[in-house]
Amino acid sequence: MRETSEEYVLHVMVPVKPHVCPNCHKETTRIKGYTHRTIRHTTTNEKPIRLIYRQRRYSCTCGRTFNEKTEFSTRYLRTTPRLREVVITELSEVKSLTAVAKHCHISVTQVIRIFKEINYSRPKTLPAVLSIDEFKGNAAGQKYQVILTDPNDHKILDILPKRDTVKLIQYFLQFPRHVRNNVKYITMDMSLQFRSVMKQCFPKAHIVADRFHLIRLVTFALERVRKAEQNTLTNGLIGQKVCVAFLN
Ligand SMILES: [Zn+2]
Repeated sequence: MRETSEEYVLHVMVPVKPHVCPNCHKETTRIKGYTHRTIRHTTTNEKPIRLIYRQRRYSCTCGRTFNEKTEFSTRYLRTTPRLREVVITELSEVKSLTAVAKHCHISVTQVIRIFKEINYSRPKTLPAVLSIDEFKGNAAGQKYQVILTDPNDHKILDILPKRDTVKLIQYFLQFPRHVRNNVKYITMDMSLQFRSVMKQCFPKAHIVADRFHLIRLVTFALERVRKAEQNTLTNGLIGQKVCVAFLN
């Protein structure tokens, strides 16, 4: 290991072990050569760790050559699984991609690649309380995505790429009726579209407008009244000043 003012550099090699040829499926330990790969690891003492991995290339009797396989090296991601875990944890907080990239000492492109690896598969069951909301994203060329959460457990259940009615109904109808009947409450904003979808798919559930969206609407309304009132007040004051100026 080497320490510079900016980083720790670790030279890594793994022991030779039999590899299965992707062409003829025979095992081989014949070494064709080596290449050096730079892999980003986590940070320690505020300094990033960079691995210089001396990767073997194996050759088979059938003529095929192929790269050594290790847990921390994949073809496209020049980051270790541990660093990817850190990035995913950081992405779960309200932070920009640039801030995550800076903190993890990797490029924004790498953060985006790791983000794309995250894959929520459709849950098998649904909780008694389900929450549905939309958020501004950019998946699958769509402006808005839909997030399904379990508000009691504070868990994300699924992310749906599209919010159109047909896609939503198709998605929910994949759950058997007894699973959908298990949902007792659905919380959401006051969108008529969501309401109609959920009423069709979850006939036994009560639909609740959640506090966040309700309070937000009340706050917006209050703010509009405040601005309107403030404007009349300002005009009144200006009028008074003009009168005072005349009298003087
Ligand atoms: Zn072979």
